[in-house]
Amino acid sequence: MLPPLTFQPILKRIRWGGRRLGTLLHKQIGEACDYAESWEIADHADGQSLVADGPLAGQSLSSLIRNHGQDLLGRQSLGSQFPLLIKFLDAHDWLSLQVHPDDRLAKQFNPSENGKTEAWVIIDSQPDSQIAAGLRAGVTSEQFCEALRNGTVESCLNLISVKPGDCIMVPAGTVHALGPGIVLAEVQQQSNLTFRLFDWGRVDSSGKPRPVHVEESLACTDFTRGPVAAVEPVQLCDSSHPFEELVRCEHFVIRRHRFLDPIRISTDDRFRVLICLNGSAVVKSKYGNAQMPVATTVLLPACSGVTQVIPTGPVTMLEVLCP
Ligand SMILES: [Zn+2]
Repeated sequence: MLPPLTFQPILKRIRWGGRRLGTLLHKQIGEACDYAESWEIADHADGQSLVADGPLAGQSLSSLIRNHGQDLLGRQSLGSQFPLLIKFLDAHDWLSLQVHPDDRLAKQFNPSENGKTEAWVIIDSQPDSQIAAGLRAGVTSEQFCEALRNGTVESCLNLISVKPGDCIMVPAGTVHALGPGIVLAEVQQQSNLTFRLFDWGRVDSSGKPRPVHVEESLACTDFTRGPVAAVEPVQLCDSSHPFEELVRCEHFVIRRHRFLDPIRISTDDRFRVLICLNGSAVVKSKYGNAQMPVATTVLLPACSGVTQVIPTGPVTMLEVLCP
């Protein structure tokens, strides 16, 4: 009998961050200029979401899973950890060039970690914003290692321009980096395992470079993956309205709904994560309501059944679920 849940954002300051989590996404930031990530839904040693309001205010996501696992996760209640980590990111500067392990490799590096397949939906970007999305076609592990040694790694990267609305799928093993000027929503496995290949020659305030993990990175890199392009959305329709499927992989499905009139989401005994990218709405299930202003995230428990999402104007919303 859980109502739709909202959580307190967990803000992470990292030196590539900026101020747009506050100015664009209305998060409560302070004076600093390096707000990088807002963890919206997290169940990890590095961040644990707390319910923002209502009768369950202050409870952690992990305790909700312990005490209400069946209601929250429904037929996906086998694990003891929430399977997805949902974030907003503000890349004010280049992120390090990085790669994430898959589930099998992650357990080798850290038995309590998961693999990290992630997907990005661009919210805002500059006209010259770029990302590194995979390696250029035909780049071998030998060529890549050589380029890392010589400081010419950029010649190996598939650099692409992005614009708001683009969705980029980054399976574990894909070499990637986000470039300056990009604000996005990220859906990923519940993991915080990143290996840095290259940090663009930068040093921190004490003059030291951040550590890189070339050996681990190369062990995780899928050299058959090649260049990555923005996904082609698939147009679908259910009984209530048309929507787009952006991603379907073994870890998550991402749908995008654009609507002016109320829509229905049937949870079908699986949880949903709703991410409001534009406009605002109210989420109404038989167990309660949640306000969903722009740039907020609502967790719809599996027990919610048929739930209404009632917009106050034009809304763009992501719906995330496990397949
Ligand atoms: Zn990443």
